[in-house]
Order: sequence, then C-alpha cells, then structure tokens
Amino acid sequence: MDLQYPRKIDLARTPTPLQYLERASGKWGRGHRLWVKRDDLTGCTLSGNKVRKLEFITAHAIDNGYDTLITCGGLQSNHCRATAFAGAQLGLAVHLLLRGEAPAEAEGNLLLDQLAGATVSCYPKQQYVAEIDQLFRQWQQHYAGLGRKAMIIPTGGSDGIGAWGYIAASRELATDFETNHIEQAHIVTASGSGGTQAGLTLGAGLYGLPATVWGVNVCDDEQYFLDKVAADAADWRRRYPGVPALDIKPHVIDGHVGRGYGIADEPVFRLIAELAALEGLVLDPVYTGKAFAGMLAEIAAGRFAGCSDIVFMHTGGIFGLFPQRGGFSW
Ligand SMILES: *Cc1c(COP(=O)(O)O)cnc(C)c1O
Repeated sequence: MDLQYPRKIDLARTPTPLQYLERASGKWGRGHRLWVKRDDLTGCTLSGNKVRKLEFITAHAIDNGYDTLITCGGLQSNHCRATAFAGAQLGLAVHLLLRGEAPAEAEGNLLLDQLAGATVSCYPKQQYVAEIDQLFRQWQQHYAGLGRKAMIIPTGGSDGIGAWGYIAASRELATDFETNHIEQAHIVTASGSGGTQAGLTLGAGLYGLPATVWGVNVCDDEQYFLDKVAADAADWRRRYPGVPALDIKPHVIDGHVGRGYGIADEPVFRLIAELAALEGLVLDPVYTGKAFAGMLAEIAAGRFAGCSDIVFMHTGGIFGLFPQRGGFSW
C-alpha cells in the first residue's frame, strides 16, 4: 500500500518488538499462540500508545505555527503525561486540563506532568464533563490574548491526525507477521478514547493484515466505541482527501469495564501480578489489565476458535500502577 503519510516527528522508539509469550500461551492459550506487541517500550517517560499519535500531532502543531498544546484527561492520564514530555522535548508549552481534585501530593503520571513543566488545571468531575469544550476554548483564547497560538488536542489524541499513529503501527505489524510466519490473527487492544482501535482497524484494512482488530472498552460501552472509531475514521478521511476510501467494521469486546473507568477489581490486580511473575510483563489496572482479562475471557469462551495466533497490544500505562498500589494487598 503506497500511502501518503503526513510529516511526523520521531518521538517513539520503533519498531517495537513483537514478543511470543510461551508460558502465558501454555497457561491460558488453549492451543492459541499468544503474542504481545510491546508498545509499552516506545520510550520511558515518553512511552505507551500515545507517543505514536503524538508523532503526527506534534508535527502538525509545529507545521501550523502552534507554540502551545492544550489537552485533557484524568488525573492519571497517560496521554497527558506523554504530551507533557513531547512538549518538553520539542520546546512547546503544554497545558493540561485534568478531571478531578488535585491531590495533596502528586504521584504517578501527575508527578511526571509537573516535572515536565506542564501547566496543570484541575476541575471537579461534574464541571469537567459539562464544560470541557468550553474550557478548551477559554484557554485557547487566553493564550491568543498573550499573542500565543494554542492547539487543542482531544482526549487521548484520538482524531483523524492521531489515527496515523496506529496506521503506521499496522505497517509494522505487517512486517512482524511476515517475520514470525503469522498467517491469521486476532489483535486485541484496550480502548479508552478509541484512537488506537481506529488506527489499527484502518491500518489492518490498508495493509491487508490477515487479522481482526478487537477493542476491549475500559469505559462507556460497545455502541460508544463503534461510533467513536467510525467518527475518527471519518475525520481522517475528511482531513486527508487523498487517502483510500475504506469500508471498516470495528469490533468491540464489552463487559470488562467493571465498576467504572480507572477502577479495577481484585481479579484484575491478581492477573497483573500473575503475568508479571510468569512473563516479566507488567500491565496496568486502568487499561491493559482489563483488556488482557477481556482477551483471556474471550479465549475461554472460544471466540477465537479456528485461528492460531492472538496479538495483544501492550499500550503502556505503567505509571498509573503506582497510585493504585493498594489494589495489590490481599
Ligand atoms: C490511552 C490508553 C489506552 C487507550 O487508547 P485509546 O487510543 O485512547 O483508545 C490504552 N492503554 C493505555 C495504557 C493508555 O494510556
């Protein structure tokens, strides 16, 4: 596929490894081979899935004369932390609008946001939900008044620009599949704002990956993500009129949100500990832990029967683990 990519800035350590999980396959695979695409290794403080999107988003910002990035998320947002470090590395100011009350002592991602020099504004959950669009515009106007130009990056960097990140990752996966003789696969990723799933779904179509892409939603529900992936794909096509028209069909594994976004129950914490000891692979309780649990449940239910290979996207998130250390006391 000869696709015309927009410019990107090299922020991520890529290609990331595709790693075979021998012991996990033996334990949970039921005859399937389990692989993990190590996008937790795209960097250290600037790591995880958001970096791939930010490569294209920051290039767009710089090419269009923006000097400031404004984005939003939860107090422990990996996307906000990655944006803070991308900005620091590129000399762009970063302003984060966070959902929730600022704790007395910053830790995890929030601590790193501060170290990276980001400006942080916290809003109570109700206000954040009701007013986030307005808050974005207010701050953008505030910076305009100072003679600066601020770019608004939506939640998770998930839009038509960010979609390129996982379209590019799909090209990498095509090579991974060849190298490892993977002829047919299911790809499973956590879905929070849908951009990773949108990029992978588009990329699988564009590169003819012999794979079905599944998003395990960690908030909202199946319909929300079917709509969100379609909306991101439509935004991608609208922004880049030269790209091929693709008829995509997103797939969602619902039922693993638990009590809510960012809240994991004991089985998820136990699974994180078990996999860490079994394979040396650390998941997080907000995204990857729930997604991995969702994948195992679907394997057990026979959803992937007839296909030998399953690829889990490790999208990062380790810094969100530390503020939830209490979950590991049983
Ligand atoms: C943001 C995030 C996701 C979800 O990706 P989206 O593109 O927002 O759906 C998954 N895992 C981790 C660790 C994340 O930080």
